[in-house]
Amino acid sequence: MTQRLAVIGAGVFGLAHAWAGLRAGYQIDWIERDQQAQGASIRNFGMIWPIGQPLGEPTALALRSRELWQEVSRSARFWLNPCGSLHLAHHADELAVLEEYASECARQGLPRRMLTGPETKRLSPAANPAGLQGGLFSETELAVDPPAAIRQLGYWLREQPRVRAHFGATAVGIETRGGGGLRVSLANGSRLEVDRAIVCSGADIQTLFPEQLAQSGIRLCKLQMLKTVAQPAGWRLGPHLASGLTLRHYRAFEFCPALEQVKARFAATAPELDHYGIHVMGSQNEAGEVILGDSHEYDAEISPFDKQEINALILRELAKVMQLPTWELAATWQGIYAKYPAGLFWEHEPLPGVKLRTGLGGNGMTLSLGIAEQFFRN
Ligand SMILES: Cc1cc2nc3c(=O)[nH]c(=O)nc-3n(C[C@H](O)[C@H](O)[C@H](O)COP(=O)(O)OP(=O)(O)OC[C@H]3O[C@@H](n4cnc5c(N)ncnc54)[C@H](O)[C@@H]3O)c2cc1C
Repeated sequence: MTQRLAVIGAGVFGLAHAWAGLRAGYQIDWIERDQQAQGASIRNFGMIWPIGQPLGEPTALALRSRELWQEVSRSARFWLNPCGSLHLAHHADELAVLEEYASECARQGLPRRMLTGPETKRLSPAANPAGLQGGLFSETELAVDPPAAIRQLGYWLREQPRVRAHFGATAVGIETRGGGGLRVSLANGSRLEVDRAIVCSGADIQTLFPEQLAQSGIRLCKLQMLKTVAQPAGWRLGPHLASGLTLRHYRAFEFCPALEQVKARFAATAPELDHYGIHVMGSQNEAGEVILGDSHEYDAEISPFDKQEINALILRELAKVMQLPTWELAATWQGIYAKYPAGLFWEHEPLPGVKLRTGLGGNGMTLSLGIAEQFFRN
């Protein structure tokens, strides 16, 4: 008989598990509190970002996720751009980090290469030529438009045979049934009887299994984001852009000896950036809007009120490295993600047959599809 699997959460991690579970032959009960996902998965840059992962297994997982994004974008028919990424170096120490990183990538056969200043400028019309020393181009990054991609993927998955969607329904409890299996209780009074359950509740650490989540070491992190209006006359950004500040942010660059100098320079000259965890990046969606960010504030620092000072600092740093035809803003927002500092994500089994899986931090779009596929292979 077909086994029944409940997946709680329709963010990218829940979506990935629902899709992978379906491919593994399960009947899926897919539960989402809102009518459509509204969490971190629709509030991000839409960067599928293997270059942020440490070399080795995490990079391999990100590259597998990349393949899965390409496959599912064809099936579910949403926009995906294999734009790659460009890290800009406007200081000698940033260039040194990129060179150290590029030579290790070359040793490992990864499609990433150094560019001179003029080559960088030719590749990206947005690279600010003032002080530009060079860049690192990587072929492995993708762009999706998060609200559109998550919505379209959701519609597509809900149409598949063996998927029953319960959207607009909060899961309020999961317990073992007397005769075996599990019972999932929804806030609308429904009860679902299933064999297994996977809880991908993102930053909601208070509804299901709050004691286990409280002891997990998971931290919540708030990010402020901005988006320009559509750039005029069909102007395109080219690859995703990141700057020297980003080298401090992703673990990928930690092995580079030159990184200490970059960190020390920013700490000495612009401590306000470390204070708010600011690094700057840009991606462009199908409509031509450029998504910009971001900052990182943790746990007790998180407030519903956004700080204009943070947005001003993000725009100040962006202007040093990027040029856009228009900086007119169409929207600003915040997103909150759960981050498990001790690993790629957090997993726990509070009851036999139930898995809690969250804590992907800033890597959920990049890693979810690969992690979920791996789960059903093991
Ligand atoms: C501003 C920002 C920028 C980012 N940029 C990137 C990026 O460019 N690339 C990248 O790889 N990652 C990025 N990330 C990280 C990425 O967005 C997250 O890691 C990822 O979205 C987390 O997915 P999730 O499914 O775990 O959580 P969520 O997207 O928050 O989804 C959890 C879902 O579970 C539902 N839920 C929770 N509890 C219940 C319940 N009891 N019953 C029913 N439903 C429930 C919620 O309603 C929600 O829809 C960014 C994050 C932010 C905030």
